[in-house]
Amino acid sequence: MPTNHADTAVIGGGIVGLAHALAAAKRGDRVVLFERDDFSVGASIRNFGLIWPVGQKRGAIYQRALRAREIWLEIAAKTDLWCPQTGSLHLVHHQDEEAVLEEFLATTPAARDQGCRMVTPAEAEQLGAGVNTDGLKAAMWSPTELNVDPRRAIPTVARYLADEYGVDVRFGTTVRGINLPHLDTTAGIWHADRVFVCSGNDFETLYPHVYSAANLTRCKLQMLRTPPQPGNWQLDATLCAGLTLLHYAAFKQCTSLSALSERMHEQFPFHGDNGIHVLLSQTADGALTIGDSHHYGKTHDPFESEAVSEAIMDYLKTFANAPDLSIAQRWTGYYPSAPRGATEVVVNPEPGVTVVNGLGGAGMTLSFGLGEENLAA
Ligand SMILES: Cc1cc2nc3c(=O)[nH]c(=O)nc-3n(C[C@H](O)[C@H](O)[C@H](O)COP(=O)(O)OP(=O)(O)OC[C@H]3O[C@@H](n4cnc5c(N)ncnc54)[C@H](O)[C@@H]3O)c2cc1C
Repeated sequence: MPTNHADTAVIGGGIVGLAHALAAAKRGDRVVLFERDDFSVGASIRNFGLIWPVGQKRGAIYQRALRAREIWLEIAAKTDLWCPQTGSLHLVHHQDEEAVLEEFLATTPAARDQGCRMVTPAEAEQLGAGVNTDGLKAAMWSPTELNVDPRRAIPTVARYLADEYGVDVRFGTTVRGINLPHLDTTAGIWHADRVFVCSGNDFETLYPHVYSAANLTRCKLQMLRTPPQPGNWQLDATLCAGLTLLHYAAFKQCTSLSALSERMHEQFPFHGDNGIHVLLSQTADGALTIGDSHHYGKTHDPFESEAVSEAIMDYLKTFANAPDLSIAQRWTGYYPSAPRGATEVVVNPEPGVTVVNGLGGAGMTLSFGLGEENLAA
């Protein structure tokens, strides 16, 4: 067998590629993973690092998120991955927000089975050091959310693949073309029996027709980060509030959502126009990650809007407190987004080739589960 042979080749060193490489390696395949950049710099290192089952569509997608959560914890047990089981709090300041959460709990037994429940402001304060209790009516506690530090987690998972499963992880190598069993890479021709194309925002290099047929678009998001908090201050539960209820699929089936949506659009028109909902998570060194906004289009300018950042911070302060909310870093992230609420795009453009993309804002939450499903298919 030539040395440049693998059973399974994976293209892309973001979370989607890493997850498919792990699933293939667990099945005993010899796996090679190609990443164009010298280290991953795509959506997978620009996010909050939230593993967020509570926001996912009920049914199979929620179960996929719970399975992915188990895999993150499995990796954390075998590596130095920072992965606290923070849980999350949806903080409630208005009756219409409470109505959505009550309806969600009443109609989603799977979430209740996981321990999701309403809590009082006093309980919320116990669960989340960052909770601002001014005007707080109640909260929904969910114990399933994990927090990883994406800039560390992605390299840790890549190292784990190499060390634990012998995956040949090749950074700085672009795949230019696929004609199985041959892959034309910048490091020469490789042979593989099957390929997973997990190329994130690059819709143009490999199988461009798949992306245009799938109607994928790109979402631009603005993010902010504080310095590490003084005195090793810990956020504990990840926090969000009313605007987040408009964002996640988990709440879409709630009939009470329309009243909330109407009030939010009247009260926060700028937030609505810029797709702003606000999450607060923490990093391994104690900094706080804050975001985000959502703008959709095929091509985006690279500029940040200060008005958007201010709107994110203004809303954050309505529900959260922390010792130091000064901003140390700002960045933009981009993720491919599938149309009509689809949770992913999985296409076989030719035998042996699977394109996996379009996980939108839930790639950290769902990829490990989707990888296992795709390898079992
Ligand atoms: C600001 C922001 C916040 C988010 N927050 C969360 C969150 O908290 N929780 C959550 O679950 N999800 C979150 N997401 C979504 C999540 O980050 C994405 O769904 C996920 O990272 C997408 O992973 P990916 O592997 O498809 O893309 P990427 O991470 O972009 O990786 C694709 C990789 O493929 C490589 N590549 C492309 N073409 C080639 C080629 N031909 N040869 C070799 N390499 C190639 C690229 O260089 C790139 O590294 C967020 C996203 C953003 C932007």
